[in-house]
Amino acid sequence: TGQADWTRSDRYHNSFLLPHDEALDFALKNTAAHGIPAISVSAAEGAFLNLVAKGLNAKRIVEVGTLGAYSSIWMARALPDGGELTSLEVSPKHAKVACSSVLVTMTDHDQVSEENLAHAGLSSKAKVLLGPALETMPKLSPTPPVDLVFIDADKENNGPYFQIARKLVRTGGVIIVDNVVRNGRVADPDVNSPDILGIRKLLEMVKNDPGVEATTIGTAGEKGYDGFMYISVRKGI
Ligand code: SAM
Repeated sequence: TGQADWTRSDRYHNSFLLPHDEALDFALKNTAAHGIPAISVSAAEGAFLNLVAKGLNAKRIVEVGTLGAYSSIWMARALPDGGELTSLEVSPKHAKVACSSVLVTMTDHDQVSEENLAHAGLSSKAKVLLGPALETMPKLSPTPPVDLVFIDADKENNGPYFQIARKLVRTGGVIIVDNVVRNGRVADPDVNSPDILGIRKLLEMVKNDPGVEATTIGTAGEKGYDGFMYISVRKGI
């Protein structure tokens, strides 16, 4: 089975389960039109994040790594009126495509018209905080408590992001970390790049944290071989 088969498989399942969606298509096309790489979650994973948020009755969601807000749109749509998604992004270019009004002054701000979150009608629920997440995430208030954190940024910092997420997420909440399998390289002792070491560090931290239970689900689909870790917070900090 090759990549073409996995892509066909995702598309086959999606054709039953996921209706055509103009705003999500716009987000992908607009992101690509700005020369930003196509490294968002797959449609199937986006739908999964949406269903997890709904299952939690999430009112507050934090995302680390916005890109063009594709996954932000999926998650923010699960929020009720008054709910809030905060997405953290280091790249001014990505933040601008995601959202026309980021919360830090940007030099090229005035070129923005309607971008992905606004196009999806989510400007009142979703905001993008510009800056390195190691600086912005600790400044987020733990109240009201966060229901769901989605970590999908620089993999070498997965450990610190998990630690900060623990201080934000309520008992019963969930932390999801994307790209923790990396085509099997995380388990390959000959691979020791910073991103892989960051994922191993995360595994150690989760193992040694008695307040969480977690599992890694490997995935094969249109984005190739990877997987995500689902961490259930049994005892918030
Ligand atoms: N979650 C997005 C989606 O599925 O649509 C994809 C996120 S993409 C894989 C990773 C993003 O993290 C990029 O936009 C990158 O600029 C951002 N990023 C990388 N390092 C970061 C950091 N230190 N702080 C915040 N964002 C960072």
